[in-house]
Amino acid sequence: MKFDNSYATLDPRLYHKQPPTPLKNPQAGHFNPIIAKRIGWSDDVELMQNWVSILGGEVIPNGFAPLAMAYAGHQFGQWAGQLGDGRGLLMAQVRDNNDQLIDLHLKGIGLTPYSRMGDGRAVLRSTIREYLCGHAMTQLGIASSSALGFVVSDTAVRRETIEAGAALLRVSDCHIRLGHVEWIASFAPDLLVEFTDYMIDTYYPDSRQANYPVVDFLTQVVKKTAIMIANWQLIGFAHGVMNTDNLSITGSTIDYGPFGFLERFNPAWINNHSDYTGRYSYQNQPAIGHWNLNVWLPHFMRLTQAGVTKTALAECLAHYETSFMQHYQHGICQKLGLAYPIQQPNESISAPDLATNRLALTLAYDLLSIIEQNRLDYTNSFRALLAVIDASNFQHEHDLLQQLTLSLDAKQLKLWQDWKTRYLHYIDQYTEANEVVSTLQKHNPVYILRNAMAQRSIEMAEAGDFSEVERLFQLLSNPYDVQNIATQADVTPPAADAPEIVISCSS
Ligand code: AMP
Ligand code: MG
Repeated sequence: MKFDNSYATLDPRLYHKQPPTPLKNPQAGHFNPIIAKRIGWSDDVELMQNWVSILGGEVIPNGFAPLAMAYAGHQFGQWAGQLGDGRGLLMAQVRDNNDQLIDLHLKGIGLTPYSRMGDGRAVLRSTIREYLCGHAMTQLGIASSSALGFVVSDTAVRRETIEAGAALLRVSDCHIRLGHVEWIASFAPDLLVEFTDYMIDTYYPDSRQANYPVVDFLTQVVKKTAIMIANWQLIGFAHGVMNTDNLSITGSTIDYGPFGFLERFNPAWINNHSDYTGRYSYQNQPAIGHWNLNVWLPHFMRLTQAGVTKTALAECLAHYETSFMQHYQHGICQKLGLAYPIQQPNESISAPDLATNRLALTLAYDLLSIIEQNRLDYTNSFRALLAVIDASNFQHEHDLLQQLTLSLDAKQLKLWQDWKTRYLHYIDQYTEANEVVSTLQKHNPVYILRNAMAQRSIEMAEAGDFSEVERLFQLLSNPYDVQNIATQADVTPPAADAPEIVISCSS
């Protein structure tokens, strides 16, 4: 692997260098060959042979420089003070096949100075959820961490019951969180200049070309965060714990905990059962992204660089809503197979084009309303549109469509049929059916990680059988293609009156 451990060269107040505390008798859980190839892990025989011992914390390969990062954050809207890697270590930074910087972060690997009341460990169930979801999101095309693999062990970890300790080697383009800057502002303000330079040079080097590099960098962070959250809304993903310490400065999804994918569509859905007020419900995510950036940006007012003014930061934050809306509107129309171009600043649009775009958007919002009113499955409802256009070539989607329409009462069926007529009319007038089909296929997955799917793989893994983790890993590797390794449960939402699987912060 090509090491580039640049974080370890920053001021030592920002981290604590230490080795992992090994797990007892680590055993293979799952290994991700796609990531191994991408980061050059699979080119090294010793790394391949020792991956279980490395993930178990027993072996630290040459080139690794483990450290726990210090950061702070706002949790559930309140200032939480110092946090930091309490159970994970940045083991190394490497350059992947495309020369992109990748962090290797080992989670579940013992106490650090930032562990506070925690035990430094992670349990198997949350490790499997993070492993599968990071992979699912990556393969869905959403910026996200994923993992090289995970191990389980004989280390006993107390949560509500005694569970097996596990560790996951997470890979992400970045582990700097909004909370890093909050930590600096509170505990080492003299480091802000150096740290901002590091963030720009490492993650946003193009901002150096701008008139005001700091302002440009902050604008990019705002836009990337907005786009990430627009992608979450489109795919139907609820992160569950959008604290400022869980948002990366590169707009990559990190820190999977009590997340979930929407099934029966309820915008107010709260997946995290520890979130009593619904602060992090699905529908609140866009506003919370804005809230987080709004508490983050003012810290940069301490900088004396040219261009960093209150007005500039306000303008920077204003990009959030524009970027979010552009990407969401573009994306929700793509989910209908329709074009809705992202309008560039200063780009004018003709009146007829504007009217056509509005029509597409209205169709999208009207469909969402039908899905919501009938608590239909979010993913399946969009995928079923393929059968509206071409029933003969899309058997799986034809079945989905039949199930969905069978669940509608007479009034809702009429609404659906009217919608379908308008949709087909739009396609007839403004676009080509084959283009619609290919867009629908690219933007509407067949498979997402439903809570019940993850749960089944966890129960089997807890009994020592990782075959379901392997099957889901394969299934979620190609989420947009119908596959013969799928089961009916992979495409079935819970019954409307079924009790929800309880997902809490305990991990
Ligand atoms: P999270 O809500 O998982 O993002 O974690 C918030 C903070 O608590 C971070 O500083 C974590 O490192 C820390 N933390 C979470 N679980 C543990 C644990 N079991 N042991 C030590 N620290 C933990
Ligand atoms: Mg976290």
